[in-house]
Order: sequence, then C-alpha cells, then structure tokens
Amino acid sequence: MAETVLSPRSVTDEPLELDPALDPFAHESIKHLVTRYGSPLFVIDAERVRRQYRRLAAALPGVDLHYALKPLPHSSVINTLHAEGAYFDLATNGEVELVRRLKVAPERCIHTHPIKRDGDIRTALAYGVNRFVIDNSDELRKFVKYRNRSSLLIRVSFRSPEARCDLSRKFGCEPEAVPDLFRLAADLRMKIDGLSFHVGSQAAGPAMFAEAIARCSELMRVAAQMGHTPGILDIGGGFPVDYLQRCMPIEEFCAPIRAALKELSPAMRVIAEPGRYIAAPAAISVTSVMGRALRDGRWWYYLDDGLYGSYSGQVYDHATYPVEALVPTGEMYPSVLAGPTCDSIDVINEHLELPKLDLGDLIVGRAMGAYTWASASEFNFFPRATVLALDGGRLLTDRSRR
Ligand SMILES: *Cc1c(COP(=O)(O)O)cnc(C)c1O
Repeated sequence: MAETVLSPRSVTDEPLELDPALDPFAHESIKHLVTRYGSPLFVIDAERVRRQYRRLAAALPGVDLHYALKPLPHSSVINTLHAEGAYFDLATNGEVELVRRLKVAPERCIHTHPIKRDGDIRTALAYGVNRFVIDNSDELRKFVKYRNRSSLLIRVSFRSPEARCDLSRKFGCEPEAVPDLFRLAADLRMKIDGLSFHVGSQAAGPAMFAEAIARCSELMRVAAQMGHTPGILDIGGGFPVDYLQRCMPIEEFCAPIRAALKELSPAMRVIAEPGRYIAAPAAISVTSVMGRALRDGRWWYYLDDGLYGSYSGQVYDHATYPVEALVPTGEMYPSVLAGPTCDSIDVINEHLELPKLDLGDLIVGRAMGAYTWASASEFNFFPRATVLALDGGRLLTDRSRR
C-alpha cells in the first residue's frame, strides 16, 4: 500500500458489500474497507458477537445472560444480541435511551449502577426498567418511595486483586454487612429480591465465582429468616478473553461455576452480566501510518488513531492488544507505534519488531471490542474512528455513534 492516497470517508452512500464467505477481519476485507471508508476504522463483526454469546450461553446453561452495554454500547451489538434472546445490563440514562431507541423490552433489562440519582431511577422506571442494584443504606432509602414498583438486588463485594480490574473495591457491600441491609429493608417494608456480585473484569480464574456463589447462598438463607424471599442471584461479569496472553477456554472456566450453581435451589433464577467476553473479540481497530521518523535507531510510525482514541483501553483497561502490520513480511526493525496527538503519552507500543512501513500502510489491532472505542475521546480534535458494523458481508446501516 506504499504511498496510497487514502480515500475520503464515505465516497458515496452506497454501502459496500463484502463477499459473505470472506471473514470481515481478514486482510483482504480490511483493505477493501479502508479503500472505501478511509482510516481510521473500528470494525465490528456481528457474527463474532453472536458466536461469543452462544458459546457463553452453552457454557452456562440455565443462566440468563444480560449483556453489559458499558464495554461496547453500539446498536449493532445490541440488535444482534436482542435477536439471540439476550437480556441487557444498563447503568446510565444514556444506556436506557439506547435500548429504548432499539426497542428492547424494558422487562429484559436491569439497572445495575449501585449509586444513582433520583433522576436516574426515574428515567429507568419511566421506560419500565424496574430492577435495580443497591449496596448501602442510603441507596436503599432512595427506593422507599418506589417500593411498590421496583425490585432490588444487593451487590456484595468480593475482592479480587488479581483480576485486571477489581470491581469490588469501588462497589459492593461487605458480606458481613449484608444482614444489616436485609434488616433495614424489612424495617422499611421493602423486599430484597436477590444478591449480585462482580468478581472483577478479566477474572484470573473461576475460584472467586464459586466462592461468591456459596457465600451468597448462605446470605440468602439469612435473608429468608428476616422475611425476604430472594429468588435471584446475579453472578456479574468478568469472563476473560485472550489478549496477548491466552486465558482458560470459557467451557473450562465455567465448569466450577456450574458446579457451584448446582448447589442452589432449583427455583433460584441465575443471571450474569457479561460484557468483555461478548464484545472484545468482536471488533478490530484499523489505522494507517500518517508519517514516520527514525529516532535513536528506531522507526517511529505516527498512526491516525492512538491512546486517546480506539487504544484508550491501554490506559483505562490496562490492556495490551495484539497488533500487526498489513504488509508482506521482510527484514524486521525495532519500531514504535504512536498515536496522532501532540501528547507524548500517546504511544501504543515502543518495543515492536516490524517490517519497514510506508506512509498509508495499515496497522490492525485485534481483540479490541471491549473498553476501547467506548472510552475513546476526541482529544486534539482527532475524530474517533469511523465505526463499521458488518454481518455476513453486509454493512449494517445504522452507523450512528451509538
Ligand atoms: C462493567 C460491568 C459489567 C461487565 O463486566 P465484564 O468484566 O466486561 O464482563 C457487568 N456488570 C457490571 C455491574 C459492570 O459494572
């Protein structure tokens, strides 16, 4: 692709069709897409979304999967999962608005932000989402006035310092304090319908899930003694995916979780909130070389997307993505991939060995669906990558930002 002049974004409004037999993430497809839509791109493959959902559903039979929108709140992902019969996990007014626009029934959604303003509660209730998560007495009291039309789960904290993102540091009630919350709820004549937890994102192993399930089961027995009838256990998200490091296959990862769930009453409804597992493998980033310079014996390549854009997960999500250059292999040189902004932190990787790249050559980042585009900014006025969502070679028409 040496010296290629990049085509302007969206030359015509005729959508491009790819050969449905062709993987949209194959080099040939990527080159087609860039020729047509320019660079940078963020390409979502609906078929991979479907595949991930089905694989996790098969590994957790009987568990209702609620896709957590946060890692990739894009309409193509939601529509694809909706058609698969998925449920959804929302946390903000914007997410409520998105599922409303896509006509997802509110009964299929739960609102899991443990800390809410009254307006957030009202927005969710107005759409018909009535199941919420709380983790302290102030939050419980916010629902007194809605007690006849809301259902509450208590989020319990189980620390997982070894997870990539420990989500029990910021949220969740210590297990020891849960009975007090049950008691307060009973005093306020409010019902608690169940418990939830999140062991941490990109969990290192399944042991904490099994332990948390057993502990929640004990806490539910305590709740029953106080007159509650908790019928829901929400085991959260955290299911890991392969990045540069491979992780345990999901079937193996879920085996101890299935075993722990077998110990629960068969009447218990079990739900989960996977985000990363479904989204991460389903999108790639495509960027091109804007310029280059030889500095201290290393080739620096300046790309049109970087840490403030699609690669923001390297900062916020502590991830490192597998990257490759779409060029024939040749002699390798110590290379640096940098983003486009004028900030020196905007470097994707300083320690790569790459063939010598030309202006316009393409770099592909894989496993970039989760916590990447979602947290991208337009710092320095570099626009976020153009999102293309494909399904079997067809470009899905809704190319809006969300
Ligand atoms: C972020 C989040 C999820 C998704 O977690 P993953 O690790 O991406 O699966 C699920 N539930 C809640 C409450 C979250 O905040």
